[in-house]
Amino acid sequence: MAGIYIHIPFCRQACHYCDFHFSTSRKIEPEMIAAMEKEMDLRKDYLGKAGIDTLYLGGGTPSILEAPLLERIFNKLHALFSIEGFAEITLEANPDDLTDEKLRLFRSLGINRLSIGIQTFDDRLLHYLNRVHNREQALISYERARASGFSNISIDLMYAIPGQTPGGWLKDLEQTLALAPAHISAYCLTIEERTAFGHWLKTKKLQPVPDEEAAEYLQVLMDTLTAHGYEHYEISNFARPGYQSRHNSSYWKQVPYLGFGPGAHSYNGNSRQANISNNYRYVQAILAGEIPAQVESLTREEKINEYILTRLRTSWGVDTRQLKQDFNFDLIGKNTELLARLTANGFVSITDGIIKLTTPGKLLADKIAADLFDV
Ligand code: SF4
Repeated sequence: MAGIYIHIPFCRQACHYCDFHFSTSRKIEPEMIAAMEKEMDLRKDYLGKAGIDTLYLGGGTPSILEAPLLERIFNKLHALFSIEGFAEITLEANPDDLTDEKLRLFRSLGINRLSIGIQTFDDRLLHYLNRVHNREQALISYERARASGFSNISIDLMYAIPGQTPGGWLKDLEQTLALAPAHISAYCLTIEERTAFGHWLKTKKLQPVPDEEAAEYLQVLMDTLTAHGYEHYEISNFARPGYQSRHNSSYWKQVPYLGFGPGAHSYNGNSRQANISNNYRYVQAILAGEIPAQVESLTREEKINEYILTRLRTSWGVDTRQLKQDFNFDLIGKNTELLARLTANGFVSITDGIIKLTTPGKLLADKIAADLFDV
């Protein structure tokens, strides 16, 4: 089995923190969809004959597209790929796009999972982040999605926003729990250089939340959601039983995937490929029959490190027997002292050769992964 990712690189306005690839100029939407159709033709054999069991439309803002363009994408996908009847088909949506008409369209296209970018229910913070929507729209869109038949809905939240308070964060979590979504993704705000926040940081207009405080927000997040029956299956992801994101889980389990659109990545088990993050150049190249992508072959060390980094963040943990089998790499033997210290300090547990982070260890996930890397 394999996954497909479609990157829709358009947004209504630029959120101050966002460094994903997108443009607020939407003039070339039809040309972009034509180029994506052509890219699908050009790369239809990338995954061999694998059936597609997850399809994910991300961005950018996929929910911004009008019916004819979305229909074209789905028609082409079904014509070229064998998308399983049980496939998880996710669309990222912003609250302001979720009209009854749009929701009906999504259902008719077979989309069975929505990931709604709410971020916070605090109007003051939404304005600060430069989100298009407000609290009321977030609440209405969620209820509308439920009423139109979506039972598998994920809500995106954000913490460690300058100006946010621990009390405010708890309120966001309580409001989220009141909606009882199947899945919650919660990300710590990181200030990226090429964003408005990055500029504000440089000019001292913004004071980032210190790491220790961000760790406290994460602790509250973990305590609150797990106490309400959500499984913490990846550092930033929580699910009610049976509702883990199959698409994202595939990334963390090194399942091959094929990405279409500018900025989209692909992975076939041995190499990674990243399409150019420029809308006009992507369209020009594809329409000329070329794939504007950089291909990076992964070395043995890169594969090992990527496995450690992604798996350590998940509830499945790092299976050291698999590392031995696939790469002849003895992670435990190479890190005896470090792992003894991490275990004694309560940051990791090791059972049957599987290394997992404990709750305190999750606060240090990236640091622990880096210490375990094969260099
Ligand atoms: S966060 Fe989402 S909606 Fe905001 S600019 Fe980035 S991609 Fe667009």
